[in-house]
Amino acid sequence: MSFRATVLTLYPEMFPGPLGVSLAGKALGAGAWSLQTVQIRDFATDRHHTVDDTPAGGGAGMVMRADVLARAIDHASPADDSRPRLLMSPRGMPLTQKRVRQLAGGPGALIVCGRFEGVDQRVIEARGMEEVSLGDYILSGGEPAAIALLDAVVRLLPGVMGNEASGEEESFEKGMLEHPHYTRPQEWEGRPIPNVLLSGNHAKIAAWRREEAERLTAARRPDLLEERPEDGQGKR
Ligand code: SAH
Repeated sequence: MSFRATVLTLYPEMFPGPLGVSLAGKALGAGAWSLQTVQIRDFATDRHHTVDDTPAGGGAGMVMRADVLARAIDHASPADDSRPRLLMSPRGMPLTQKRVRQLAGGPGALIVCGRFEGVDQRVIEARGMEEVSLGDYILSGGEPAAIALLDAVVRLLPGVMGNEASGEEESFEKGMLEHPHYTRPQEWEGRPIPNVLLSGNHAKIAAWRREEAERLTAARRPDLLEERPEDGQGKR
């Protein structure tokens, strides 16, 4: 069975969006993964299809109601659904390549896109949702985060990426940022390609790339080097 994504959202028209184009779009068309959207508003019961209400305790904004969202989740993901339930949320654990790889190896995901100030805490707990953050900044809704997460997952699915090897060498796969890339022309605006890359000496090239990756990682993301176990197999 291929990877099955179900996205719960107030804006289903945002999907597949970028996921319908290029690598992810081709894979969707070829059946390497499937995408279903569920309109949360369809599970409101009042005449105005209300999905939100004012925050208990007061304050600005609105909160997504637990009862409406729970009905949408229960409809999309019955109790025997083994897929993880993700809630896109700035309070979640930041998404890592390691988690992306785990998700890609699983049956799929149910992804809830928040809006307003967020979601009633009780439904997060009652439906066992894992909060996942895209990073330390605030989006206006979970949809762009869900699209980014699915893009990262789908490219790892079997047969999706043309050159399988390129997935192994990328940033984070070995707990490091990737080395810089160059291509023709050999000289551009007075800047040559580093000589070693033209040497044809594969051992030297590999050593240069490793040094560059270490230098970049130490300068930009020392936190990644700290997390690396001794054997060089990164956690991410
Ligand atoms: N009041 C909240 C932010 C709500 S933003 C807070 O301060 O934490 C509205 C919705 O956008 C959220 O419910 C979430 O689904 C989504 N969202 C915003 N920023 C995000 C991020 N960094 N990662 C993932 N989802 C995010």
